[in-house]
Amino acid sequence: MSYLYRCNHCSTRRALPRLHTDYIRPPKCNSCGGLLTYRDVWQEKKNKDPENLCYCDQLPFKPHRKASTVWCEAHPIGPTELDYIKRHGDNMS
Ligand SMILES: [Zn+2]
Ligand SMILES: [Zn+2]
Repeated sequence: MSYLYRCNHCSTRRALPRLHTDYIRPPKCNSCGGLLTYRDVWQEKKNKDPENLCYCDQLPFKPHRKASTVWCEAHPIGPTELDYIKRHGDNMS
């Protein structure tokens, strides 16, 4: 379980393992250093919605969020040549 936050400044998303109020030092945005105090409850709900879960065999973890990566069967575009190269590189190392 993680909590989804958005930067107050640039709206970059970041998942935190705990609530931002549990931190002694407030968590900050990786891109601009802005404060992450806006919790994206809508997105959290969406992630838990069974309609957005996918059980296809293309990803090693199930269930996953539909089209969460290009390898998911529900992804509208699917992996590109570059994605295959990247994956191949991972397997070699
Ligand atoms: Zn930011
Ligand atoms: Zn899938």
